[in-house]
Amino acid sequence: MNPLYEVRPEAREFDAYVPGLSIDEIRQKYGLANIVKLASNENPLGISPIVEKVLRDRATEAFRYPRWGNPELNARIAAHLGVPAEQILAGNGSDEIIDLLVRIKPRPGIDNVVAFRPSFSMYELCSRMAGVEFRQTPLRADFSFPFDDLIDTCDQNTALVFVTSPDNPSGFTVTADELCDLAERLPERALLVVDQAYVDFADEPARHDMIPRLPLHPNVAVLRTFSKAYGLAGIRLGYGVLPLWLAEIMRACQIPFSVNILAAHAGIAALGDRVFVQETLRVVRDGRARLTRELTALGCEVAPSQANFLMFRPPAARTELDARGVFEALLERGVIIRPLASYGMPDLLRVSIGTHKENDIFLRALKDVFHG
Ligand SMILES: *Cc1c(COP(=O)(O)O)cnc(C)c1O
Repeated sequence: MNPLYEVRPEAREFDAYVPGLSIDEIRQKYGLANIVKLASNENPLGISPIVEKVLRDRATEAFRYPRWGNPELNARIAAHLGVPAEQILAGNGSDEIIDLLVRIKPRPGIDNVVAFRPSFSMYELCSRMAGVEFRQTPLRADFSFPFDDLIDTCDQNTALVFVTSPDNPSGFTVTADELCDLAERLPERALLVVDQAYVDFADEPARHDMIPRLPLHPNVAVLRTFSKAYGLAGIRLGYGVLPLWLAEIMRACQIPFSVNILAAHAGIAALGDRVFVQETLRVVRDGRARLTRELTALGCEVAPSQANFLMFRPPAARTELDARGVFEALLERGVIIRPLASYGMPDLLRVSIGTHKENDIFLRALKDVFHG
């Protein structure tokens, strides 16, 4: 008997998440000393010095279980956003909230989950693992959102509709007004989940922020993370702002203590360090404008982005290499960016905005690849 047939078919047929390459992997493979990683949209400034100190000071608490439900963290997030703390559910990254949503709201075999194609792969991975039908409708050729098609893909059994704004990997962003309009047109049972992992990086976040709209739109949930603008990707901390009834059910079903005691302290401290976040946003917005300009000057087609990354098509005229080849040639030069074949876009690449110096190194390496 093949033991593979004794596990759930969803598990047997599962395609693992494809992460960005790590610095250690590339250092070992190419024997390089200096590596620039611009592959996973991490914070170019690293961690806030205030959060670092809190983590050191609090390390001695690591033998304790956290308080159930992270009440201090939830209260701090709620105060930051101006929403009731009961609507906040924190998780081990917002990935955990995505997983909880698809495991708890849709009924397997009955309901479905809807998103664009391509979209952030966790929506599909988690839905499939939960045994829930996952439906997609294509983005427009310019990566903007055809909301009419999204609505046509829904039916009375649509439990969740995921929209990422700013979108990953394109950086395309819709306004809060457009999202409210979409929410009003969805079937009655569908919850619109707006993943705003990158919303802080927008030039005018207030135009895009869905949080102030939640009181008037009870069928909308918002996902946020500490992994990007707050520089805590490795700590694993994200949250959902959810309709109260759903927050209560999800809180009851969540594995206890999945937000660890240091993550909770780090999150509270991170919300208190406004200087670090403001400096992050300045570096990212400046870097984004500069990289957009310089990549365009190099003949790349660059998608307009409100996030901390840029998606681009390398110029066929400047190089024999396809996107995969450009990605590999950059690796040999110690620069890790992200190929988008796993998003179904083998001719495109994504680069995270780095520090001014990292952006320099990336641009120099890219010029070398194009001319060399
Ligand atoms: C990075 C990212 C997240 C955040 O994931 P965490 O689990 O919080 O690190 C969520 N959604 C999208 C679209 C992302 O790109």
